[in-house]
Amino acid sequence: MQKIFGALVVTAAILTAGVSCGGARNGSAAGDGTASSETAGAPDGAAAGSANNGSANGSTTDAAAASVPEFNADSAYVYLKRQVDFGPRVPNSEAHRKTGDMLVAELKRSGAQVHEQRFDATAFDGTVLHSRNIFARFNPEKETGRLLLLAHYDTRPWADQDPDESKRKQPIDGANDGASGVAVLLETARQLGIKNPGYGIDILLVDAEDYGTDNQDDSWAMGAKYFADHMDAKGWRPAKAILLDMVGGRNARFPYEYFSQQAAPELNAQFRQAAGAAGYASYFPQTMGGAVTDDHVKLIEQGVPAIDIIDYDPRQGFNPTWHTVSDNIGNIDKATLKAVGQSLLQFIYK
Ligand SMILES: [Zn+2]
Repeated sequence: MQKIFGALVVTAAILTAGVSCGGARNGSAAGDGTASSETAGAPDGAAAGSANNGSANGSTTDAAAASVPEFNADSAYVYLKRQVDFGPRVPNSEAHRKTGDMLVAELKRSGAQVHEQRFDATAFDGTVLHSRNIFARFNPEKETGRLLLLAHYDTRPWADQDPDESKRKQPIDGANDGASGVAVLLETARQLGIKNPGYGIDILLVDAEDYGTDNQDDSWAMGAKYFADHMDAKGWRPAKAILLDMVGGRNARFPYEYFSQQAAPELNAQFRQAAGAAGYASYFPQTMGGAVTDDHVKLIEQGVPAIDIIDYDPRQGFNPTWHTVSDNIGNIDKATLKAVGQSLLQFIYK
């Protein structure tokens, strides 16, 4: 995810009445990633994670029980580490292929019906990216009202935002940008396998998100676009969608993202209500962040209400590790994974 236009302009547009963002999409990239560190009082890494994992043998009791499962941040962290341990997951690499295979296996293990959607995408520089979206369905027989949860699993080939110019051609670990959203969704899938939510939920791990370049919107989120372009033919159109992106950083905060708030204000409000009920309201300030070209936009363009839960501060940009070699496991905070994951489970099971 990447392009941003000036947060102040965005905020003004929102306040003055739902101005269409179409014309502004190619606006300046003011306010992006060169963030400084902040000292906000974020929790330390000690996750409250020794979770109750329930009776693990997949009892699919009816959804009458009102309790929300405990999101296990330790489990999510392990899912994150397993991805990072493969190395950078750049399309066409061995690490990318192995990661995809692991994700398929884990989602099957959770009991989902799993589809692999293979396609070739041509990047802005002409490289053909052999790509694979991974789509896991829970309660596939429920045809209406389905909730789609998504995250990208590919990682950026270049640390082009690194403060050290000599590192800008290196690939990134993508511990936060890529692996964190996937990790939260894998742990969510595990919980869905333990306790059936009673309605249709899909988890989409998209490919070819992060191979883009400045000022070419179509060079990003190619996997999400492929999914969105084909979902109707497959009968896979969701009623609503939640994207997780960069949900494991230190000092993370998730204000509203502009396109999300334009397209799906109700869903945004419901998610934040759930976060509050789960005790994590402080992570989700009800203020405007920025406008981010990300996977959710491809769904919005096809008429799906979709929101992006993304760590973006209007004053400082993305998390300081964004598209740098510092986006590694040492800069992951389990407490952030917990906050987002528990809020998501609250939303799902409320
Ligand atoms: Zn990225």
